[in-house]
Amino acid sequence: MLLVELEQSVQQLKRVGPATARAFARLGIATERDLLLHLPRGYQDRTVSRPIAEARDGVECNTVAEVIAHDTIGWGPRKTLKVYVRDASASAALVCFGREFLATRLKPGVRIRLAATFSYRYGELQSSSFEFEEADSPPLLFGRVIPVYPLSEGLTQAVVRHAVSQVLDTSARHVEDGFPEALRRERSLLSPEAALRAVHQPATRQEAEQARRTLAYEELFLQQLRLMLRSPARTVKSRLQKLPHRLRARAVATLPFALTDDQARVIDEIIADLNGTTVSARLLQGDVGSGKTLVAFLAALPVIEAGRQVVLMAPTELLARQHANTAERILGPLGVRVCLLTGSIPVRVRTPLLQAVAGGDAQLIIGTHAVFSEATRFHDLGFIIVDEQHRFGVSQRAALVQKGRDADLLLMTATPIPRTLALAYYGDMETSTIHSMPPGRKPIRTHLARLSNEQKVYETVRRELAAGRQAYFVYPLIDPSDRSELKNAETMSARLQHEIFPDYSVTLIHSRVPEDEKRDRMDRFVRGDAQILAATSVIEVGVDVANATCMVVEHAERFGLAALHQLRGRVGRGELQSYAFFVYADDLSEDAKARLRILHQTSDGFAVAEEDLRMRGPGDFVGVRQSGFFRLNAADLTQDADLLDTARNDARTILARDPALAGQPLLKRLVEVHDHLEARAV
Ligand code: ADP
Ligand code: MG
Repeated sequence: MLLVELEQSVQQLKRVGPATARAFARLGIATERDLLLHLPRGYQDRTVSRPIAEARDGVECNTVAEVIAHDTIGWGPRKTLKVYVRDASASAALVCFGREFLATRLKPGVRIRLAATFSYRYGELQSSSFEFEEADSPPLLFGRVIPVYPLSEGLTQAVVRHAVSQVLDTSARHVEDGFPEALRRERSLLSPEAALRAVHQPATRQEAEQARRTLAYEELFLQQLRLMLRSPARTVKSRLQKLPHRLRARAVATLPFALTDDQARVIDEIIADLNGTTVSARLLQGDVGSGKTLVAFLAALPVIEAGRQVVLMAPTELLARQHANTAERILGPLGVRVCLLTGSIPVRVRTPLLQAVAGGDAQLIIGTHAVFSEATRFHDLGFIIVDEQHRFGVSQRAALVQKGRDADLLLMTATPIPRTLALAYYGDMETSTIHSMPPGRKPIRTHLARLSNEQKVYETVRRELAAGRQAYFVYPLIDPSDRSELKNAETMSARLQHEIFPDYSVTLIHSRVPEDEKRDRMDRFVRGDAQILAATSVIEVGVDVANATCMVVEHAERFGLAALHQLRGRVGRGELQSYAFFVYADDLSEDAKARLRILHQTSDGFAVAEEDLRMRGPGDFVGVRQSGFFRLNAADLTQDADLLDTARNDARTILARDPALAGQPLLKRLVEVHDHLEARAV
């Protein structure tokens, strides 16, 4: 029996009625297979006994106790049973909220095995979170390592454990997962049955961890295989060409500055892709301000010179427009026809633009996702560039590539990605990295400030404004509608204007400001007519105003580290000394402060990203949550980097040795399981 085929409904299990089935459904669990793949989030080790008196700070006791008396608290429908128990070390009260029925099982004189966490209340040790079984019955929940499952409302650990153990007893014995046997032996993996048993009912923690690593390895192997199978690099181009480079050389010659070594190197890497025999997909990583836009334009020129079209897609209209302006400035004089295509362009204007794109008159098309709408037909799209792409998942990447015939793909991101995430998420792509900044940049001075010290921040900003500089203020909310304690951009922009900086002009941008209004306000800020820009994190990507030297983020604890690093990158874009102020809540926990301090300690985006991954896990990582692709079940990218490397190499080796592998039914089914898990988690 294959794991994928365990499709009986959980409702057929004992003690699983319609209500419990619905509770399981809330966790995405419908079938026996889903249940087997519902892995414990941790374990309680009940192999070591611990008397009541030694159970402290959330540590369970694991003891044999005797019931000594009953009592009740409250009255009427809220009456609650209290059962007094005693072991050799101490006595304590078990508070049985809503479990009056326990009175008959816990009669005075009965001896029980007891696991409980206690707190000291009303002069006695109390527990409302306990598990027990009669001491003269065979141990089920004691003397072993007990799984602790993620729950949904309506489920208890006991119900899940019971359901899982039924499936293990009836079905796990025959289960096969179709994983290549040679590989299983080579990597010393457990059999599927052993792995599933050990992960749900381990004898020791080590056994549980060994089982988890087996499942994690398989999961990562499949994920890598899947990425490789989907990789555009498997498509051979129908036309091969050696691209001309005269236009690019002319563009470089007209620049007011020299390319950095890193820029020159990555442009070469990209152009090698464009000249390559298979369709390429490359990820270009470079910290904010490292000059990726120019790289994109210069890499696009050979394609344009060869008579094909290039698309540059940006996540916001603001950014698309800015790129179009830059392109017009740098490439316009060389005769390149640039076309801006966004959702807010009125039909009357758009129709001729679309004609220009379809007819091949437009050579460099810049826009938001509107560039890939149904209405857009390209004459001959050869190269797709996506800026600040962390919102695009694997399947979206594939869809993009299909828009162009053999079009090469370049994704650019200023959100550095930790290595494990990059491999797991972008394993189908090559990567290029810009490490160095254009010369002359001064490191940004980063300060952390308590909310109550905010006046000091305002004073520094005031000094900068007086010197003719500009400032950003970023808030976690748009307006007061949420009735939150948090500051919001709308209220604060009014306060900044009228109370704090009445001598300067403040403008406001957030996602609910209509596009044309947004454009006008942004233009005012770019021109310097407004000195202060109040905003939400919409300005996170792309905005480039060299005269802005202050970035103030309020309620910084509400933002991810990577996002804060991005925001910080909005300043320090010229040669002026710039400042970032991260203002945090007065009552912020030490952990959260330690997290913010990382930004103070390093300006290296990769270091920030690694730290963010370590502290918060991949789930919180920019773009990861939306992708769905990342909902790994058994694997944990913060601790399984070694497994990922091995799995990746194995997948590559196997695919190289046996390219037909993708067609093998068993592997196909395995990949389906994986797909199923992915769908389930979203
Ligand atoms: P990002 O990588 O964040 O997209 P940009 O492409 O917006 O960075 O570049 C930031 C700024 O640096 C722009 O104003 C750009 O003109 C400038 N710049 C790019 N390359 C160089 C260079 N080699 N020397 C000096 N300035 C550069
Ligand atoms: Mg950029």
